[in-house]
Amino acid sequence: MIVVIAIEHIVNWKMKLHCIPIHALIYSVSFSKYLRLTIKAKTNCMKYLKIFVALLIPALLIQMLIAQSGSQQPKVKNPYYSHTDNTPVKASDAEWKKILSPDVYYIAREKGTEVPYTGKYWDNHKPGMYYCAACGHPLYSSDAKFESHTGWPSFFQPLDANSIKLVTDADGDRTEVLCKRCGAHLGHVFDDGPQPTGKRYCMDGNVLDFEAKK
Ligand SMILES: [Zn+2]
Repeated sequence: MIVVIAIEHIVNWKMKLHCIPIHALIYSVSFSKYLRLTIKAKTNCMKYLKIFVALLIPALLIQMLIAQSGSQQPKVKNPYYSHTDNTPVKASDAEWKKILSPDVYYIAREKGTEVPYTGKYWDNHKPGMYYCAACGHPLYSSDAKFESHTGWPSFFQPLDANSIKLVTDADGDRTEVLCKRCGAHLGHVFDDGPQPTGKRYCMDGNVLDFEAKK
């Protein structure tokens, strides 16, 4: 009986010994396959990561430059800015360039248009008053503001007859809206607004200043 048990142990032990290289081989093949797949996956991952970083860095730099130019304040104080003085302002573009921030100058003097949903006040629903950002002239009350879903602040009427001036655009197709005091370009007016006027004064938010009602 003892002999039989001893023989069984020896056989089992030999089988185990015999099996070790086979198992080792299977494991090593599986492991190297796993390793190759992992390395391949990692290589692909690194490739995509490099592409992502290569795209992300310029995008972030552009974003920073835009943010910087938007927040860049002029060095010279604006002598014309007033909420109460109605005296017409006559200043050269060179002077405006010194006293306006680049984003205001771009719209007010170069008749630029901000990208929708990126400017100020398109989503502002607070009660208050909107002023010309170039000269401080009162332009619109929040009572006339409506949701135009255009990404630009829109009003159905100006504050009063002295707020704005309308001129035909250079292309002759649209009606341009200017600040009546300083002549800053503010936006355009269209005939698809709500009642009671049916007008949509579509403004560039960056050329407006807003003061909430106290
Ligand atoms: Zn103005």
